Amino acid sequence: MNVVDIIHEAIASKRTRFAFELLPPLKGDGMQKIFAAIEPLMPFDPAYINITFHREGIKETVREDGSVDWHIARRRPGTVGISAAIQHRYGVEVVPHLICGGLSKYDIEDTLIDMDFLGLHNVLALRGDKSQNERRFMPHPQGHAHAIDLVRQIADMNRGKFIDGEVEECHHSKFSIGVAGYPEVHFEARDLTSDIAHLKAKVDAGAGYVVTQMFFDNRCFFDFVRRCREAGITVPIIPGLKPISTLRHLEVLPETFSVKLPEALVREAQAHPDHVREVGIEWTIAQSRELMQAGIPVLHYYTMSRTTNIQQIVKALF
Ligand code: FAD
Repeated sequence: MNVVDIIHEAIASKRTRFAFELLPPLKGDGMQKIFAAIEPLMPFDPAYINITFHREGIKETVREDGSVDWHIARRRPGTVGISAAIQHRYGVEVVPHLICGGLSKYDIEDTLIDMDFLGLHNVLALRGDKSQNERRFMPHPQGHAHAIDLVRQIADMNRGKFIDGEVEECHHSKFSIGVAGYPEVHFEARDLTSDIAHLKAKVDAGAGYVVTQMFFDNRCFFDFVRRCREAGITVPIIPGLKPISTLRHLEVLPETFSVKLPEALVREAQAHPDHVREVGIEWTIAQSRELMQAGIPVLHYYTMSRTTNIQQIVKALF
């Protein structure tokens, strides 16, 4: 069953499920750490697991003679391989993320064909962020400027249309496509109205559901869903939740993800500097409970690959 069907089944049965997002291992790491992060969550029956996609970075090495060596390197390669390994090991649907950044549409087509052969039939289609040496996002010369173009490419493939045209009598992939949405507005968007218009275009192009950026005040999410519905977006909108776990998160999360932390959460964390992790867990449990009461079909937990706090959260809720 693909993720769109899983979400619709959760809606029909009025049973909230959960999903979680992991990073692929660092280059040189094996699979054991990621399996160790997944295993304690499996008894709670996750609906599916997301695996992020990381674009290349630039690594500079100074040689002994003072000259400089540049490497274009991916610190966390292997999204597709680790997704297939997890799906086959645990029998749970896995959603590899796929980005436009740094990839040509031909690279993307090859990746999608590999995914299809490996039995991965879900994909979260994203633009990705700028590379570290760019001032703003620059598409690959033969790539896509926005996530909508990636959604179109995947939807075309599902209809048997490849980059170089139609293939007669071809095997049709059947990817279920998710896209990202931003309750507190994407940082590059002019305003929420235009951001939601772009989101609607991604859905009209073939996305079957939306996963949101993390938020810490459920009112942001409920407002966003209302605005999306008013704009004609009818697909499920899955909330993204992240438990804070360190005092550093109070600065890093708003800066990195353009989100606000409610004053009450900041106060609580600052009042208990040695127990920020517990504060984050309690806050996320309260957010989750309210979302479950509102009939949300799936809660998406961001983990950064450390799942001990997510274990406590799902133990309390599922
Ligand atoms: P887009 O939908 O292309 O939107 C980007 C900006 O362009 C927005 O401001 C939008 O309003 C605007 N826009 C969209 N279409 C148009 C258009 N046609 N014309 C003009 N403006 C337009 N990043 C990774 O690198 N790897 C990951 O694995 C990853 N996973 C993520 C998972 C989730 C759930 C979320 C919410 C984000 C994730 N990201 C990931 C981050 C994401 O790549 C960035 O937020 C990126 O800056 C935007 O991606 P997008 O798919 O929303 O882009």
